Amino acid sequence: MNGLMMSQQLSISSIVEHAERVNGNAEIVSVTADNPRHRYTYQQAFARARKLADGIATWGLAQGDRIATLAWNDYRHFETYYGSACSGYVCHTINPRLFPEQLVYIINHAEDRYIFIDPDFVSLAEGLVEECPGVRGWVVLTTAERMPQTSLPNVLCYETLVAAGSEAFQWPELDENAACALCYTSGTTGNPKGVLYSHRSTMLHAYATMMPDALGIARKDVVLPIVPMFHVNAWGNPYSCPMAGAKLVLPGSKMGDGETLAALINEEKVTMSAGVPTVWLGLLAYLKASGQRVESLERIVVGGAACPLSIMEELDTYGVQSKVGWGMTEMSPLGTVNASQATRENYSEEDFAKVRLKGGRQVFGVEMKIVDDEGNELPWDGEAFGSLKVRGPWVCSSYFKLEGSDAHAEEGWFETGDVATIDPDGYMAITDRTKDVIKSGGEWISSIEVENVATDHPKVAEAAVIGHYHPKWSERPLLIVVRGPEGKDLTSQEMLAWFEGRIAKWWTPDAVQFADELPHTATGKVQKVKLREIYKNFAFPV
Ligand code: ADP
Repeated sequence: MNGLMMSQQLSISSIVEHAERVNGNAEIVSVTADNPRHRYTYQQAFARARKLADGIATWGLAQGDRIATLAWNDYRHFETYYGSACSGYVCHTINPRLFPEQLVYIINHAEDRYIFIDPDFVSLAEGLVEECPGVRGWVVLTTAERMPQTSLPNVLCYETLVAAGSEAFQWPELDENAACALCYTSGTTGNPKGVLYSHRSTMLHAYATMMPDALGIARKDVVLPIVPMFHVNAWGNPYSCPMAGAKLVLPGSKMGDGETLAALINEEKVTMSAGVPTVWLGLLAYLKASGQRVESLERIVVGGAACPLSIMEELDTYGVQSKVGWGMTEMSPLGTVNASQATRENYSEEDFAKVRLKGGRQVFGVEMKIVDDEGNELPWDGEAFGSLKVRGPWVCSSYFKLEGSDAHAEEGWFETGDVATIDPDGYMAITDRTKDVIKSGGEWISSIEVENVATDHPKVAEAAVIGHYHPKWSERPLLIVVRGPEGKDLTSQEMLAWFEGRIAKWWTPDAVQFADELPHTATGKVQKVKLREIYKNFAFPV
């Protein structure tokens, strides 16, 4: 027998309707290329999103078509999220830090029809146009007066588009399983893969992030997402904040700038923030140098990479509570949050230092398990470590346009590529990765591509690159080289110089170590886990 309750669709346009009714006066404050402090309300934001949607409706797109963004965190990007997705299109957020070849691949694979770009990215876009024939038009996120000179074909000005639209635009009824957003992850080997979020998954995830032991977002909060809106929807903040009625502070392109972040926190009275460890290092360095404090900031969630204890302890001295979170693009991204702070008094100082570094406990809605190489489930004893698998309504079931071909090793579970322990209290701790990638300052570096360039060097017999602890970037690439017969005189300097012009500067390894041989598996693959063990005491020169 079915229950007799309404089966209203979980669509993100309901966030708009709710926020307009009850949270209309809460503010969104943004740093943009043309205004250091743009300020308006949710009511105004959503009125403009409707006008934008009215403009988009004249483009003749089909439901489900992709509208992409190459943009920083600001109010126009926020409006584009809603204007596109609530109209039944898919908002595809693209990471502008990728190389042009990767951008071209992603745009073509996603079949993006229109791309909204910040003025900063106009020349980047001009370099892509020829290779992206499927893109019908480009929208520059600026005013008519500030429209840059550009050779982009079919280029529109965002503010002109919005001004021409009607506020009376009505959102269509959407199926909750319809796609609303798309984000590519280059976190695995091979080409980037698209994670296609649905209205339902996005709504459930946003609800979950608001729970007290998750991000705990309430009406009284002022939230500063320092995680980019092009990276997993800024961890859901653009949805959860209007749901809760929290004030949203968007730092534009200034996410790495400690001074701007401190000013935003102090002037806007930010209470909660989220970002990768590197961001907190930048903020802490600025606070130390300037002698400023961040009195309003109560708590932050730090994730995306392992957080050093020193960052958490330094934040303690500023009265900022830091919670580790773990997740993935494929998980919308929230998986676990470490709410151990709530029970700090239950631990000795030493045990607390250990437990607070863990990834934390699964948020309701996410199930986790750890398995050995044969797929047998391992105990939650805090000792046994194995491959971490997850499932839940906001976990990816297949990648975009790879349905069927990328079946996970075990039906119904997503293989995260992380290796973890889980203790009897349910605290998960990442111990290693099976996926062959490096994460520097929250952004992926493909080890395979770096290795391919290294082995092209005539003096190199074999090369492997591993992610290795770095105090500023969490991880940086360390290159291990076996010299070839002609390479007896190969030096680190010569090796590193080889990367110039062949690879993005920030993908270039920070150091080289020479070895007589590399450890291999029976099938001839380099054993990265073993390599990481061998070089665990290596320290990058800083
Ligand atoms: P995000 O950066 O939002 O977490 P990505 O998909 O870019 O999402 O990266 C996910 C991967 O980042 C995880 O599989 C894991 O390897 C790493 N990661 C995320 N959070 C943590 C954490 N708290 N500690 C260690 N590694 C983490």
